[in-house]
Amino acid sequence: MTDHSDRIVVVGAGPVGLCLSLALAQADQRVCLVEALGDDNFLEQVPRAGTNHPATLEMLDRIGLYSKLEPRGIIAPVFHYWDRHEGRLIAAFDHSHLKNDTRFPYVLQCERIKIVEEALKMAKAHPNIDLRLSTEFVSFEQDAGGVTARVINSAGENETIEGRYIVSGEGARSIVRKELGIAFEGFTYDDRTLNIEVAYDFRKHGYAERNYISDPAEWSNLFHWKGPPDRWRVHFPTHPKADEKELMQPAALQERLQGFLPTGRPFDIVGSNLYVVHQRVARKFRVGRAILAGDSAHVNSPIGAMGMNSGIHDAINLADKLIAIARDEADEGVLDRYERQRRHVAVTHTQAQTIRNKRLLAEHDPAVRRRNHDELRRTAENPELARKFLLRTALFESLREADAIA
Ligand SMILES: Cc1cc2nc3c(=O)[nH]c(=O)nc-3n(C[C@H](O)[C@H](O)[C@H](O)COP(=O)(O)OP(=O)(O)OC[C@H]3O[C@@H](n4cnc5c(N)ncnc54)[C@H](O)[C@@H]3O)c2cc1C
Repeated sequence: MTDHSDRIVVVGAGPVGLCLSLALAQADQRVCLVEALGDDNFLEQVPRAGTNHPATLEMLDRIGLYSKLEPRGIIAPVFHYWDRHEGRLIAAFDHSHLKNDTRFPYVLQCERIKIVEEALKMAKAHPNIDLRLSTEFVSFEQDAGGVTARVINSAGENETIEGRYIVSGEGARSIVRKELGIAFEGFTYDDRTLNIEVAYDFRKHGYAERNYISDPAEWSNLFHWKGPPDRWRVHFPTHPKADEKELMQPAALQERLQGFLPTGRPFDIVGSNLYVVHQRVARKFRVGRAILAGDSAHVNSPIGAMGMNSGIHDAINLADKLIAIARDEADEGVLDRYERQRRHVAVTHTQAQTIRNKRLLAEHDPAVRRRNHDELRRTAENPELARKFLLRTALFESLREADAIA
C-alpha cells in the first residue's frame, strides 16, 4: 500500500492551486490536486483576472510558466489614469522606471483562463502531481498525523484522499474555510460591476493597454487582451437596484459603450457579464494542517489587479514553507509566519489599495478630484516618485514588507 503521509492535498486547480502544486512538485514534494471541473469543461470558465504584475512574473518564471504565457499575452509597460469628466489623460506610468529592480519592467496582460490552461498542462505532465479532475471536494478531517479529504471522484463514487496537509485553493466559496468556522470579514459593495468585452482598437483614441478612468458619474477600467480576436474589457458601475436582465440587453450595452466613446457605429460585443464585488479577508489563514491561500483567504475588487496576483504570492510563499518543513529545515511554526506575512499583505496592501482605487475613480467632490489628479500627475512626472509608486503597484513593496515580518 502506498504511504501518503508526506503528500500535500491541494483543493482547486485555479491559478493559486496550480502554482502551489507546481512549485511543490518541482521541489520533489508529492501533491494530490483535486479539481471539480473536468477536461470537458475546464476551459469554459469566464476569463476574469488578467493583469500579471512584475513581481508575479518573477514567480511565474521560477515555476517555468512565464515562457508559456508570454506568447499568449500582451506586454504592457505603460498604464494610464484618465479623467473622463474632463476628457483628458491625467497621468501615464511607465514600468521602465523599474528596469533596475526587475527583469520584467512591464505587466503581462494574460487572462486567468490562459494561465490555468498552460499550468494544467504542466501539472498533467509532472510525475509528482496526482491530478484528480472532475473530482469534487466535499469535506475533510485532520488529526495530529495528517488530513483526510472526502471527495466525489470522476466515477461519482465517494473516496477519501490522505495527506500531510490540506491547502484550500478553492476560491471564495472555500469549504475548508467554512468547515473550520473561519470568519470571512469585510463587506460587499451594493453596486455590481458590468464587464463588456469588445473587439475594437481603443489605442487609436490614445488609450494604453491598461486604463483607469475616473468619473463621478460613471468610472471605468479599460484593458486590452490578446485574441484572436483582440478584445478590450470595459468595466462600468451599475445602480444597486438595476435589473440584471435590463442591464444585459444588447441595446443597453451598446448605449453604455456609446456613452463612453461615441463612435456612432455599433461596437462588436464579444462577451459581457455582471459581477458582485467583495472586500473580505479570512480571520485566520491556517488551523492545524489546513491552510487557506488565494481567494479562499481574501477577495477584493479587481481595480488594481491584485486578487490573482496576491493569491499567486500566497502560493509561492506557502510552497517554500511546506518544502522547508518536508526537508526538516523548519518546523511547523513557519506556517504561522505564512499567516502573519500574507494576512498582513491582504489587509494592509490588497484591501487598502483596492478600496482606495475605487474611491479615487468614483470621487464626487471636485476639489478632492483635482487634488488626487494633481498628485498622480506630479508622481508620474518625477522619475523617483514614479519608481516608488510603481514598486507599490507592481507589488514589490508588499513582498518586501512581508519579508520583514518574523
Ligand atoms: C472580472 C474579474 C476580473 C479580475 N481581474 C483581476 C486581475 O486583473 N488581476 C488579479 O490579480 N485578479 C483579478 N481578479 C481576481 C481573480 O480572478 C481571483 O483572485 C483569482 O482567480 C483567484 O484564484 P484562486 O486560484 O484562488 O481561485 P479561483 O480562480 O476561484 O479557482 C478556484 C478553483 O477551485 C475549484 N473548486 C472550487 N470548489 C471546489 C470543490 N469543492 N472541489 C474541487 N474543486 C473546487 C474551481 O473549479 C476553480 O478551478 C478578477 C476577478 C474578476 C471577477
